[in-house]
Amino acid sequence: MDILLLAQDGTASISPNEAGAVLEQAAEKIVEVASDSSRANLGYLVAAVFFILGIKGMTHPRTAVRGNQLGAFGMLLAVMVVLVSGQVVSWPIAILGLVVGSAGGVWLARTIQMTQMPQLVALFNGFGGIASVLVAASEVLKGSGDGVAGFAAGLTGLIGSVTFTGSLLAAGKLMELPQFKKPWSFPGQKLINAVLVIAAVYLSYEMTDGTGGEFFFLVVLSLVLGAFLVSPIGGADMPVVIALLNSYSGLAAATAGFVINNNVLIIAGSLVGASGLILTNIMCKAMNRSIANVLFGKMEATGPTADADEVYAGKIKSTSADEVAMLLDGVQRVVIVPGYGLAVAQAQHVVRELANLLEANGVTVEYGIHPVAGRMPGHMNVLLAEADVPYDQLKEMDVINPTFAQCDVAIVIGANDVVNPVADTDPTSPIAGMPILNVIDAQTVVVIKRSLSPGFAGIPNPLFAADNCLMLFGDGKQVLVDLVAALKEN
Ligand code: NDP
Repeated sequence: MDILLLAQDGTASISPNEAGAVLEQAAEKIVEVASDSSRANLGYLVAAVFFILGIKGMTHPRTAVRGNQLGAFGMLLAVMVVLVSGQVVSWPIAILGLVVGSAGGVWLARTIQMTQMPQLVALFNGFGGIASVLVAASEVLKGSGDGVAGFAAGLTGLIGSVTFTGSLLAAGKLMELPQFKKPWSFPGQKLINAVLVIAAVYLSYEMTDGTGGEFFFLVVLSLVLGAFLVSPIGGADMPVVIALLNSYSGLAAATAGFVINNNVLIIAGSLVGASGLILTNIMCKAMNRSIANVLFGKMEATGPTADADEVYAGKIKSTSADEVAMLLDGVQRVVIVPGYGLAVAQAQHVVRELANLLEANGVTVEYGIHPVAGRMPGHMNVLLAEADVPYDQLKEMDVINPTFAQCDVAIVIGANDVVNPVADTDPTSPIAGMPILNVIDAQTVVVIKRSLSPGFAGIPNPLFAADNCLMLFGDGKQVLVDLVAALKEN
């Protein structure tokens, strides 16, 4: 400032020597900051390489655990670089945060049941979204966002808030909480959604002037929008919406990166956003859903579902572990179809034991994997990998479906919606149009579950009443333990 005064009024408030010393100090400071920021950027670059290697590793079950570790290390590195280079906190506080965060992570990993993972992931998405909103909010409060940064702050408010309420609602649906589970909508909802989107984008544009007063109103609108977008979703659309929310949480982080001009946030957010969109696309194809419908919260027309009594009365044939063991004696090919109930029963290890026994008797065993079996993408692959089931025995739906006619026995364990033929026959059902595993084509189908209760979509399943279907009632794990014992006795 002194140097500026010297230039403006012509009077030397400091001597030329002093001015020279000040200039020298300023130059040293600039070099220090520049080298600090290039060190930080180098750290971000290394972190980004770890993220990419992590994602690459996760493309195959064999390398998935390593991929996860690489990604987690990249994230740790990125967080440490931000904390230290940005002088946000001192080293001791950064280490304290690391210890507290790690303790929380270990506690969650140890206490959360495998069946609670999908809702945990939904909550993580939601918290990711709201964290981005808070980052943008702090910049808005500092008054530091105009132009592109202001617009990015608005978009962060929009995407992050939609992700937050949408994910909370999705988690409620996955927990099967009665107040959230049933799809809910009202007349004109889609129009209101469209108005909310337009208003939020307009307010984001208004934020380019840097005043930021619109931000908090925009956040409220977007929180409502998130709830309205997810409330009408249910049944076969759920997996798609989960993948989409995952992608939104990444996009919100990327736009927050533009707000605070942070490269690693932009890179990590873009990676999550892009991979989430790819997953959404894969899910849409697998479920025969239109991404536009799910994006705009459009629910397929659902009609009254058939009455369970009508579907099942007098047509259910129940069987026992001993009878199934006899049925399996001398067969050539068995296909095991796992579903959400396998995860609930934690029966993956005993399934492997059953398969080993059958294989020892010369039976060919394969697993039919539906893309949305369970409650999260890849749920069955993860479960079966935990029991070291050889990956080449896991057959995707398109591969296994044409072969069910050559299958002696299909054993369905805790799956329901993914083998429900109503998807093909009733255009008003919540799973209408969803491709299913055609187990009904097998010579005999054995369904293992505890009762005739419906699956996630809440509808009866005519497969259970089919002529070639036998119901083996009981907890998945216990029934399989009995079956293995009976096979060993035979
Ligand atoms: P379902 O939810 O259709 O059926 C699971 C069945 O498991 C139930 O009918 C239940 O019957 C049975 N079950 C529960 N506990 C046990 C147990 N201990 N032992 C034996 N059986 C048990 O599962 P699916 O895998 O067939 O279908 C997945 C559904 O979830 C689809 O509707 C899909 O759209 C939805 N979804 C999937 C997501 C994903 O990404 N994969 C995400 C969100 C939703 P009973 O109580 O009689 O035992």
